[in-house]
Amino acid sequence: MKRKMKPESLMMSYGYKPELSEGAVKCPIFMTSTFAFKTAEEGKAFFELAYGLREQNKGEKLGLIYSRINNPDLEVLENRLTLWDEAEEGAVFESGMSAITTVLLEFLKPGDLLLMSHPLYGGSDHFIKKILPKYKINIVPFKAGQSKEEIISNVEKTGLADKLALIFIETPANPTNDLLDIRCCKEIAEHFSTPEKEIYLAVDNTYMGPVWQHPIRHGADLVIYSATKYIGGHSDVIAGACLGSHELIKRVKELRTFLGNMASPNTGWLLMRSLETLKLRMDTQAYNADKVAEFLIGHPAVEKIYFPGTLTEKDGEQYKIRQRQCLTNGGMISFDLKGGEKEAFIFLNSLKHIKLAVSLGGTESLAEHPATMTHSDMDPADRKELSVTEKMVRLSIGVENYEDIIYDIEQALNKISLKNEPLKINSEHKAALNLV
Ligand SMILES: *Cc1c(COP(=O)(O)O)cnc(C)c1O
Repeated sequence: MKRKMKPESLMMSYGYKPELSEGAVKCPIFMTSTFAFKTAEEGKAFFELAYGLREQNKGEKLGLIYSRINNPDLEVLENRLTLWDEAEEGAVFESGMSAITTVLLEFLKPGDLLLMSHPLYGGSDHFIKKILPKYKINIVPFKAGQSKEEIISNVEKTGLADKLALIFIETPANPTNDLLDIRCCKEIAEHFSTPEKEIYLAVDNTYMGPVWQHPIRHGADLVIYSATKYIGGHSDVIAGACLGSHELIKRVKELRTFLGNMASPNTGWLLMRSLETLKLRMDTQAYNADKVAEFLIGHPAVEKIYFPGTLTEKDGEQYKIRQRQCLTNGGMISFDLKGGEKEAFIFLNSLKHIKLAVSLGGTESLAEHPATMTHSDMDPADRKELSVTEKMVRLSIGVENYEDIIYDIEQALNKISLKNEPLKINSEHKAALNLV
């Protein structure tokens, strides 16, 4: 029997044949816009498949045509990406936003209703609320903590339940780490699906993926990534990806071909290089994040931590989702400082090693202020309701030695003048962290 290797063992070789590239062990960068056909008949056959002009014959593969349609660097990368999520097929994009917007445009049409989770990444929130309405697409939001019945009833109250076409969620949510139940969202999709029309569930898995959470296993139809974050992992490339079944990714790729928002061969090559160390990096980042969270819990300048690792059984549904869906606590920590913007800015301005920058998932630790940076575009009322306040700071934990990260955070926290508050360690939350 053939051994089923783990994805991390296959990231150096899967889907690439050295004999097709002069024996090169590594996949070269195929900097070419177009590919030569052996015969006119072959060119005709490739185009018939690319444009869906006829059914694919058994065993027939789409040949290389033109780099807006396909390119070896993108195809090998897409095949490797499918392994983590056990998806049938993948499509890579020039950014996470282009992966998200292509999915939204492909699966929604004028008059349709989109069910979306709140909060979403600022760019997704902007596209859905400010751009999709121009195309007469209606939206109904929900947030963590709402029951299935409540969400179904809210969809019905719009009077457009029969127009529901797509559910788009982000879990854990940025920046609050709120967890959403993927299985429950799939049940909502099934509730509104009919034999004529299937409602799909798309999950932005950027915060936990592709190593720490596998949405397809929990019922998602499409998994989306900003590959700029953990997949790229070195803060040196912008890219995106979408994974799912052959049937759905075929639709996504067709729109990608005509929007022309595929990634470049150079980006494909960079991401393949990144994938070789993905597991190593993410393992270290999750380990470090647990250590940093443990430190923050004990610090008197810190009021509240938003991190899956500090959930306990008392948190009910959130804790259960954490146990069921997430393989680690992730590498993103948000926390409220005692005070407001002033205290948050003193902290951010005092960091010496950790850079003050947006983005996340890279090898270096980063810190930012969601209310005035990544989430400044959000409706202030929504921000307040979702606890994205002036006192919140968000950290992306890197691969540095965790004691150095903590040293930097501690010296910056100590710059905030403290009113002699006693050091209060929440032992219950500490115990929760030690379990994982
Ligand atoms: C960064 C990010 C995006 C957008 O990705 P880009 O690569 O910047 O276009 C989408 N979703 C989440 C959760 C993100 O963090």
